[in-house]
Amino acid sequence: MIIQPKTRGFICTTAHPEGCASQVKRQINYVKAQPKLEGPRNVLVIGASTGYGLASRIVSAFASGANTIGVYFDKAAEGARTASAGWYNSAAFEAEAAEAGLKSYSIVGDAFSDEIKAKTIDLIRTELGQIDLVVYSVASPRRTHPKTGEVFTSVIKPLGGTYSNKTVNFHTGEVTQATIEPATEDELRQTIAVMGGEDWNMWIDELQSAGVLADGATTVAYSYIGPEITHAVYREGTIGAAKNDLEATAHRLHEQLAAKGGRAYVSVNKALVTQSSSAIPVVPLYISALYKVMKEKGLHEGCIEQMYRLFSTRLYGAAETPVDEKGLIRIDDWEMRPEIQEEVAQRWAELTTENVYELSDLEGYRREFFQLFGFETDGIDYNADTNPEVAIPNQR
Ligand code: NAD
Repeated sequence: MIIQPKTRGFICTTAHPEGCASQVKRQINYVKAQPKLEGPRNVLVIGASTGYGLASRIVSAFASGANTIGVYFDKAAEGARTASAGWYNSAAFEAEAAEAGLKSYSIVGDAFSDEIKAKTIDLIRTELGQIDLVVYSVASPRRTHPKTGEVFTSVIKPLGGTYSNKTVNFHTGEVTQATIEPATEDELRQTIAVMGGEDWNMWIDELQSAGVLADGATTVAYSYIGPEITHAVYREGTIGAAKNDLEATAHRLHEQLAAKGGRAYVSVNKALVTQSSSAIPVVPLYISALYKVMKEKGLHEGCIEQMYRLFSTRLYGAAETPVDEKGLIRIDDWEMRPEIQEEVAQRWAELTTENVYELSDLEGYRREFFQLFGFETDGIDYNADTNPEVAIPNQR
């Protein structure tokens, strides 16, 4: 079939297999061009098919030569529907890993469930023995609690008061004012249940008690802090409360794992175009302004550059992992440099529909958004007949 982008609001409902494969290959080539790492050997990535999780899996495999298991929630093609981007990304990753002589396996299903945890533990036992790195990179709008069956929905809302700021429709370039009403107590509770640390904690507990987590193992989950302009809706809102819970979980897990020489961290990453961040109001406009400033200063990074720097200078490259006063890894350090933030804030004050393509990199944002789904990628013929059905070689 001919596969073209079809958007509905902030999501693209189609994905292109060859475009996704080409995007994965580009990330792999970036990593192959960097110095090799003395890093992990056997890695579990939960939320491995897109964004930061996919980049973590690529760095593990192609910089450190690790065997990997990826857990993710993606759909195969069916009838007239293409597979999701994460499906095509993972198929491409596994083919490349096999060619490099690395073991790699996929477990497709709900990471929040007991069933997927048990399946993953069985797979580790039979194929890898033990794992020495667990990356937790799930971003989800919903979670079904494995013990109570309660279904939680996360919301991105401020706490305490109404928030209003500029936002952009990145398809049309229209800059408008977004106003978001504060969350209720129950929405806050549910958001923490989805995006907080409980599920990460469950994974580590279950891996440890099954004896498949190596002594001295590392685990890392990802968080975001960002600028003053998004604080009310992000860091001081419902999602920030969930991230506080994730960070508190890291401290607890760090103590738990330290008894056997292990470590648990939260890494605060840079704001980037991913399927998750494009759904947050205000953030795409901030990212567009940030991209413009960071590209001008030669400091721009995407997921793969961020994750290579995280592994090579924080998690593995340094004798001791550098952390801030709260114990957090700060790989958002370039984004948060005062000269970057001052310049973004200045542009932010001036941004309107009339000047958005001049003052911000909205065009770069839009293009990267479509590239997440394998579109707008050089070298791909989007008018060619393409088979949407792609198998994942090592799906269990
Ligand atoms: P993403 O949407 O690109 O990736 C999310 C991954 O989670 C996908 O692999 C998806 O398949 C998987 N997933 C979702 N629900 C699942 C489920 N029930 N079971 C199994 N897998 C599931 O998101 P991302 O932006 O890479 O976010 C990953 C983490 O990084 C999040 O914690 C996010 O808050 C954090 N982070 C993101 C940014 C950013 O700007 N994008 C910045 C800093 C931190």
